[in-house]
Amino acid sequence: MKTIAVLTSGGDGPGMNAAIRSVVRSAVYRGMKVYGVMKGYDGLIDDDMTEFNARSVGNILSRGGTILKTSRCERFFKKKYRRQAYLNLKARGVEGLVVIGGNGSFRGADIFQKETGLQVVGVPGTIDNDINGSDYTIGAHTAVDTALDAIDKIRDTVISMERIYVIEVMGRFEPFISIMVGLAGGAEDVVFPGGRCNINAMCNDIKKGRAKGKISWIIVVSEGAGCAADVAAAIKKKTGYGIRSVTIGHVQRGGSPSTFDRVLASRLGAAAVDVLAKTKKSGMVGTIANRLNFENFKTACKHDKRKTGLEGELYKLIRILAT
Ligand code: ADP
Repeated sequence: MKTIAVLTSGGDGPGMNAAIRSVVRSAVYRGMKVYGVMKGYDGLIDDDMTEFNARSVGNILSRGGTILKTSRCERFFKKKYRRQAYLNLKARGVEGLVVIGGNGSFRGADIFQKETGLQVVGVPGTIDNDINGSDYTIGAHTAVDTALDAIDKIRDTVISMERIYVIEVMGRFEPFISIMVGLAGGAEDVVFPGGRCNINAMCNDIKKGRAKGKISWIIVVSEGAGCAADVAAAIKKKTGYGIRSVTIGHVQRGGSPSTFDRVLASRLGAAAVDVLAKTKKSGMVGTIANRLNFENFKTACKHDKRKTGLEGELYKLIRILAT
């Protein structure tokens, strides 16, 4: 393998730049030619790519976002545009493609690979941590830290004003962010995808807690399970207590990646280049129990990570520690 290309696709997340840097420098180290593709699959279709060298990715390790930009590319759902993308890569002699992205990007990568025969390797980059075959996705750890920082700050007012707060964090299908910040942020309850949201039980807890002198309350809601404002309104209706709701939102997608995400991105970027250099396999690189792992795209895209049962264990702990 002599020439490869790298792109970022779908939702951006912290650590994508660290992954790009690792792909480019690992490829250069191996004497490969490497193209940086702009705006995800759009850049493939429009032939918007430039040759990168080691200096092209200088000073990006600590930066959020992605220097390659990213996109949600409607055209890539159509075969004729995927064909155009393939012809552009072929004309430049590209033999392997690295796709840094999430579930959707990998579904596109899978179809593209099967249709064209081009070798494609995925690097999981999404704050949702919703990819099978990797314990963590790049960006999830930083997103949790960002959400936790916000919750710690909200807690100051929760305690000073003796309030009940319902706080919404990101996470479309996976409970990861909500459960992690729920435990690390000392939340009283968490509403998460796959969990139960029993407003009556929550209200009883709050009333009992108040009777015992518990003056402040934080409930974390994952966006995939509901809306903070709705949960707050339902609790207010049943208890009559003044309740605030806040949505932390897209700040969770930005910012400088954590040490963990920089290390993960550096490992997985290099691993993707290794797969292209040494094998003919297409699929996703990840880590399981801290060891490098390889997974086919179909399995990686299945939303069944919850089967590990981790969130059940952590949720139980959240409830015990909230008493
Ligand atoms: P993420 O990768 O963050 O989950 P999306 O779900 O938006 O983000 O997917 C990113 C892009 O991947 C889409 O905009 C589209 O270009 C491509 N893609 C997703 N699913 C398919 C598919 N079934 N066929 C072709 N391309 C797809």
